[in-house]
Amino acid sequence: MSRLHAAAVALGACLAGMAPTLRAQPTDVDMLVRDVTVIDVVEGRRVPHRDIVVDAGRIVAIVPTGTARVARIATTVDGKGRFAIPGLWDMHVHFGGGAALIEENRALLPLYVAHGITGVRDAAGDLSDSVLAWRDAVAAGRELGPRIFTSGPKIEGKDSIWPGDLEIEDEAGLDAALDSLVARNVDFIKITDNTLSPTLFMSALKKVRARGLVSSAHIPMAVPVAEASAAGLGSIEHIAYAYKAGAPDEAALSQAFAAGARDARAVWDGVDASFTRDSALAAYRRLAANGTSVTPTLNGSRVVAYLDQDNHAGDAYLQYIGPGLQATYAWRVERAGKDDAEAITRRHARFERQAAILPLLQEAGVRILAGTDAGFLNSFNYPGVGLHDELDLFVRYGLTPLQALQAATINGARFLGHDDTHGTLAAGKAADLVLLRADPLHDIRAVRAIDTVILQGRAHGRAALDAMLDHVRARVAAMPATP
Ligand SMILES: [Zn+2]
Repeated sequence: MSRLHAAAVALGACLAGMAPTLRAQPTDVDMLVRDVTVIDVVEGRRVPHRDIVVDAGRIVAIVPTGTARVARIATTVDGKGRFAIPGLWDMHVHFGGGAALIEENRALLPLYVAHGITGVRDAAGDLSDSVLAWRDAVAAGRELGPRIFTSGPKIEGKDSIWPGDLEIEDEAGLDAALDSLVARNVDFIKITDNTLSPTLFMSALKKVRARGLVSSAHIPMAVPVAEASAAGLGSIEHIAYAYKAGAPDEAALSQAFAAGARDARAVWDGVDASFTRDSALAAYRRLAANGTSVTPTLNGSRVVAYLDQDNHAGDAYLQYIGPGLQATYAWRVERAGKDDAEAITRRHARFERQAAILPLLQEAGVRILAGTDAGFLNSFNYPGVGLHDELDLFVRYGLTPLQALQAATINGARFLGHDDTHGTLAAGKAADLVLLRADPLHDIRAVRAIDTVILQGRAHGRAALDAMLDHVRARVAAMPATP
């Protein structure tokens, strides 16, 4: 970079809000979003009457309406009466269900975009080769879909119930698994607890951190969540583990489980009996200090907890979900169907108690990530609209609309280390944004009122989004009933 160029860049950076009026030469740009209210998701401010200048897939400037010095604009998007937010990220999705469902999973990609979701974090499944290929195809603009961040196959013990895992039995196997994931350039490392020994689990967390990677996990019952966090755990998947961490005697309960003195149900009973607001806040402050995030995935848990009350068989959204993926929903439905009245009451109570910790996590400064757990297996937890449902639940259980919005934008970008290019609307960031017809800071349900999705600098207006949905529906209708 020449000194002159460097000086120009520096001037541009320090005058980010007003630089274009000072530029000597007006330039041609790809797009201008005119007279929109920009939502600052960090500070929770509304910045009205802005023009967003987009070129080559990036936001070039955000300036007061009418002040951008541009020569020619290829596309102008009317932002009047609209609210611009960063594209939403669903931080916990899955692609899977076997090779026969590759096309059904691929058909989910535009479904995310049509719901304002410009990024998804894939938390492992059995289609890693396809997901990695889609990640690259989306990034290169060859496939319409959200940006994909994937763990690739996850780390487990021998004979885990999940297909597609890297099953490890010792340290050498762990090292080889991590080598293979690094070679595939995965975005984070997912570790789960089905058959993985507590010792190897802890070792995996430490080795992931030592390699400068970020981990995400289900935590074995025998391991105190506090210990996993202290060892560098990046994100706790599912709120139940964070709930367990809030019990003052979490370490003793975990130890009792490890020693065979308590089964899992008795551990949960012990957590219920001892959990207090104060013990939880103290524990969550330690999670925050360690930099451990939490992805609550409330939507999936809520659907399953209340299957006795809500009949999803007639959900209109099923028309967007392939028959093979729908068939994977049966697993949890059948399991829940075996519960008697007492078990159903316990299911409800457990969900309510666990969801209630959400504002405590927030108060303690834990970074909350909005993720649905949508994909295969997780019944009626729908890819796309499921994230809107998740954000509704965040507010219902005590977050402000701003905090919910942060969980679906800046928090995910920070977690993945991409906040230099994503997560907020500012000059230099990727042009991934959503124009809403209502104010999300006033009511989070505004994220459903999507007017336009701009993805990698390309605008998809309401009619285009509806056409996208129609296309998914047609693809699903043409899929064989039993793949
Ligand atoms: Zn999951």
